Order: sequence, then structure tokens, then C-alpha cells
Amino acid sequence: MIQFNKVSKSYRDGTAAVDSVDLHIRKGEFFVLVGPSGCGKTTTLKMINRLIDATDGTITIGEKKISEYDIHELRWNIGYVLQQIALFPHMTIEENIAVVPELKRWSRAQIKKRVDELLTMVGLDPETYRGRKPAELSGGQQQRVGVVRALAADPDILLMDEPFSALDPVSREKIQRDIISLQQRINKTIVFVTHDMQEAFKLGDRICLMKDGRIVQIDTPEALFHRPADEFVKQFIGTANPLLKDTVTVESAVQKQSVSEKFTSSQVIAAGVPLEEAIEQLIQEDRIQVEKDGEIIGLLTRQSALAYLSEALKERREHG
Ligand code: ADP
Ligand code: MG
Repeated sequence: MIQFNKVSKSYRDGTAAVDSVDLHIRKGEFFVLVGPSGCGKTTTLKMINRLIDATDGTITIGEKKISEYDIHELRWNIGYVLQQIALFPHMTIEENIAVVPELKRWSRAQIKKRVDELLTMVGLDPETYRGRKPAELSGGQQQRVGVVRALAADPDILLMDEPFSALDPVSREKIQRDIISLQQRINKTIVFVTHDMQEAFKLGDRICLMKDGRIVQIDTPEALFHRPADEFVKQFIGTANPLLKDTVTVESAVQKQSVSEKFTSSQVIAAGVPLEEAIEQLIQEDRIQVEKDGEIIGLLTRQSALAYLSEALKERREHG
């Protein structure tokens, strides 16, 4: 689907940001570019929709070189999500999502239908949110809108540059789960940049680890974990673990509103503990304080655990 042949990018000041990269991203795959800051991830991503032009080599999408596409056509057919939530503040949520469909001259009715469909897809009730301004949404909700806006005109490819790294951990985990279930339904080709290996493990079908503008290893999460190509890969993986991706932790079921209430529980549990283990404790104790990075972030209660489980069961029934 997306092919890089010996692609390099040197900036005018001489920085060799990307050095002779060969890549083949398959149709429908969730492809993650990961690596330390400055290794060339953003440059690689932006060359795909020609926000940056390569200095050497060729990039093709489908059978065609990207230089042969009409640039507007190319950009409209590639969704793009950035780290900083870039919604237009004076426009409503609906207007924000409608930007590209309007450029493509969709009808009003078509646009409205699409906006409703997209908001519903990420759990935002269209009646409630369509007419709101971005400032009336939480950070997590705004980034959900950022994601569906990029999907609005039904592009084949979605580029995402550290889209969740500005979010708090709870919103981040929620939106990560959203994007996984979204991907299972819409089946786009997604190129996702992150510097967080655990996020890469959680989301990627395949992961491309970069260092100093070069590719060190491209593999599935499991292969990268079990067969790291060298010491750098091993180091970069650190404590991240692909096996944790399906483990639901206590953090998912925390009841945050209770933080300011008086705690009646003397029990404390770490946010990263698998929810299963915590549920055993909840049989004895009806509420447990949840600690993360040395702070109490809320309570795990029988009620909050059941609410989470019932939501998860519903989701499983709906999305297989
Ligand atoms: P990453 O996204 O992995 O952090 P980037 O692709 O942003 O990395 O940057 C790769 C390298 O190119 C870095 O050394 C960065 O400082 C440099 N770089 C990025 N943009 C420019 C620019 N416009 N001019 C000069 N150097 C740049
Ligand atoms: Mg970057």
C-alpha cells in the first residue's frame, strides 16, 4: 500500500533526519513507528502526505508515486491527527468534522449523517455534542473529535503523530481501546507515531523501531519482544511487554470522582494491578484506594468494577 524506496531527508541545515529508509506498509495494517525523540519518526510520517518532501528515494501509494498525485487529492485522502488537539476553537464540533467533506462538496444531508455516525462511533452522543464548541469538551473528548475529523471524508490512510501523548493516563487508555475497536470496524491503513513502546505494543500489528534516521527492526510486537535484533532494541523495549496489552488493570475501573471524598478504606492497590486480582480483594473489602506514581487517583469500588465489567461485556457483545 505505502512503499518507501531508499528514502532520505536532509534538512537545509544539513541534519540527516531520515537515512535511506525502505518500508512496505500493508493495506489495512496498524503500523507503528517508534523510537527515541529525534530519530526521524515525524519526518518519515510527514513525507507520506508530502508535508515534507524527501530529498532522495521514492514513496509510492498504491501503484503511483506520491509526486504524481494532485497534492490536494493526496491530502484529502489521507487523514492526519496531531498531538496537540488542533480543533478550530470558534467552530462547533459538527463544523470541525465537516471541514474536509465540505471541501469535497458533500451535500448537507450527507455531512450530517456522517457526523452523527462518527460521533456515535467514538461514544459521543451526537445530540449532545454536535453543537458544542471544543472548549466545552474534555481533552480526551476533543482528541476523539480530532480522530473522527481525520476520518470524516473516509480516507484510505490515517497518519497519527503521537496523538494521545498529551492526554492523562485514563483518557489515553480509553482512547487507545477506542482506536483498536475502531480499526477493527473501519479497516484503514494506519501509520501511528509514538515514543512509548508500551503504546506501540498495544496498538501495532507491526512495529518499526527507528534510531538516528534508520530502521533498526520491523516486526510484530511478539517477535520484537522475543527476538530483539540488538542491544538497542532490548534497551528500548525496557519493561514494556506485548503480553500486557490484553490485561485490563485496576486503572480502567477507577471511580475518579471519589478522590475528594473521605476515604473509608485503609486498603491501597496499585493502578497497574490486573483487575482480576483486585476483584478478589473486592469480595472482602467494598472499596480500595488506587495509587499511581505515589498518588491516590481514586477508589476502586464494587460498584465501579461492576460498571466497568458491564460496559466491557456490552462492548464485547456489540463488537465481537
Ligand atoms: P522525531 O519525530 O522522531 O522526534 P523528527 O523527524 O522530528 O524526529 O526529527 C528528526 C531529526 O531532524 C532531529 O534531529 C530534528 O532535530 C531534525 N529536524 C526536524 N525538523 C527539522 C527542521 N525543520 N530543520 C532542521 N532539522 C530538523
Ligand atoms: Mg516527532
